[in-house]
Amino acid sequence: MDVLTPRTLEEALEMKAERPEAVPIAGGTDLMVELNFDRKRPEAMMDICRLPELREWRHENGNVFLGSGVTYARIVREMGEFVPLVQASRTVGSPQIRNRGTVGGNLGTSSPAGDALPVLAAYDATVELRSAAGGGRTLQWNEFLTGPKRNAMRPDELILGARWKAGRGPGSFSKIGTRNAMVIAVAGLCLVMDDDVRTVRVALGSVGPTIIRATDAETFAVEELTQAGAWDDPNVTLSDDVVRAFGERVAAAARPIDDQRGTAAYRRHACAVLGRRALTWALQERRGR
Ligand SMILES: Cc1cc2nc3c(=O)[nH]c(=O)nc-3n(C[C@H](O)[C@H](O)[C@H](O)COP(=O)(O)OP(=O)(O)OC[C@H]3O[C@@H](n4cnc5c(N)ncnc54)[C@H](O)[C@@H]3O)c2cc1C
Repeated sequence: MDVLTPRTLEEALEMKAERPEAVPIAGGTDLMVELNFDRKRPEAMMDICRLPELREWRHENGNVFLGSGVTYARIVREMGEFVPLVQASRTVGSPQIRNRGTVGGNLGTSSPAGDALPVLAAYDATVELRSAAGGGRTLQWNEFLTGPKRNAMRPDELILGARWKAGRGPGSFSKIGTRNAMVIAVAGLCLVMDDDVRTVRVALGSVGPTIIRATDAETFAVEELTQAGAWDDPNVTLSDDVVRAFGERVAAAARPIDDQRGTAAYRRHACAVLGRRALTWALQERRGR
């Protein structure tokens, strides 16, 4: 097997143009598992974990750019203002996995159980791709994620990172698994409320072939908050019945299957509980501010 070791993004893109079959390796926490189990035997791998251009995150005119090579450990240490992203990063694997694993790798694998992905979906993020021949390309998160472990990346492209609008409002990520740590989600949910543009966005992981936005629940929450006058007065809350109805709409958006980690019925129930909790936390956080 050839191992390519580019030093800059430009060099990496040229190598990828010459050898599109070369598989990028960032943290290796997904890829090395595939190699260990002999599920993949690539002719060439390209080590991208040291490319400086992929290892940065920054604010840019009201947006946030997160380089594909930023590890979960760094997100937890450096990006505290993005609470749902930090909460999701903290749940990934173990300290060793968080020291190596990247959001770019989560995107590259495109598993419906990737914990960073519901967060990017709730942020309504775009995915930035680049190739030597085609230059840059920007896809909405749901154009990039096309199915279970499938995405729209072309063989000569690399993922540069994700970009989203920095909003103002509460949010959270939570997941249910068979134990408290080192666990693949049986169901995961991210809720992001934006007080400036008055939106509620809810994304679900592990309960469908890919990440799902619970759009009916989102519309319902916005309408209820508007009717209650809660956008202007954070002390206004929603009744238990409304919160329960929101949870039911979240659950209705799920498209789960039975598998070794949980039944479809359990997953749907989990979505309702996660949805109720996330909305309750968001309302409490607004009251506290
Ligand atoms: C013990 C263990 C526990 C885990 N727990 C969790 C968990 O709780 N939650 C979770 O979501 N995941 C978990 N994972 C999976 C994994 O850690 C994550 O998916 C992580 O985000 C992968 O990142 P990486 O940098 O290691 O990816 P890699 O393994 O390096 O790459 C993964 C895929 O993405 C591609 N890729 C990576 N970067 C780029 C790029 N810039 N451009 C193009 N393609 C790219 C690679 O070619 C490969 O196909 C776990 C894994 C292990 C081994």
